[in-house]
Amino acid sequence: QMDARLPLSNIPELNRLGASFNRMAASLEGVEARRRELIGDMTHELRTPLTVVRGYLEELADGEIEASPEIYRRLAKETKRLERLVNDLQELSKAEAGYLPIKIQRVNLRPLLESLVEKFSDQLLEDGPVMRLECPSVLPSVLADIDRTEQILVNLLGNAVRYTTKGSITIRTWTEASKLWIAVVDTGIGIAPESLPHVFERFWRADRSRDRHSGGTGIGLTISRRLIELQGGQIHVESKLGVGSTFKFFLPLA
Ligand code: ADP
Repeated sequence: QMDARLPLSNIPELNRLGASFNRMAASLEGVEARRRELIGDMTHELRTPLTVVRGYLEELADGEIEASPEIYRRLAKETKRLERLVNDLQELSKAEAGYLPIKIQRVNLRPLLESLVEKFSDQLLEDGPVMRLECPSVLPSVLADIDRTEQILVNLLGNAVRYTTKGSITIRTWTEASKLWIAVVDTGIGIAPESLPHVFERFWRADRSRDRHSGGTGIGLTISRRLIELQGGQIHVESKLGVGSTFKFFLPLA
């Protein structure tokens, strides 16, 4: 019926519209599939700590175990983990929806690097690794969001601290063409070659039980990579089992 009212010359136009409608529908289906997958993954991640908490509460209620400071501590730990997960998941879902506000400005990162090294040094054990900053005293400015860059570095340094028991954790910077590279180099447990391609995938952890125990959620690197890409940069990882890992990323020079 529509054809009757349309001049014949418009039929190719109509076909083009139809084709672009189909493309749009297909890409919406992709978005919907990714959304379903994300919700499935989130549900799975949330279920574990919830099951632990419920287990303790039921055993307490049935008198199978006795209330003790230790039980309360474990309950508090699992609830804290749930809280972290929910916070991380919120960031992740924003990142996946492409909604993470970024405020790009011309910034000198040197003061941030100094304060992070100081902050993380305080967390290190007496006989643990040492923290170092290898960065020229006059660092060229970059075009970046300073808060997001801090978030990225807190994540990389947090991982380095978590997976390094001896040696050193170093922040190193250098420039190359129009880029400022920032590397977090550790002498920790390292990552197996077959695991390396997966480290930036959401919820991926080298060792579920070990990393869960150390408080890992497997979300940090996914968000960090997204934040770096939103600022026009890229992140790479190099690692050797038992030797250590280097996570390096660049930001555009101002
Ligand atoms: P998590 O919250 O579990 O640390 P990430 O996304 O930050 O989540 O890291 C994903 C996984 O990559 C970690 O669980 C760990 O197995 C591995 N990983 C990340 N950083 C390091 C590191 N510096 N040394 C060794 N393994 C690491």
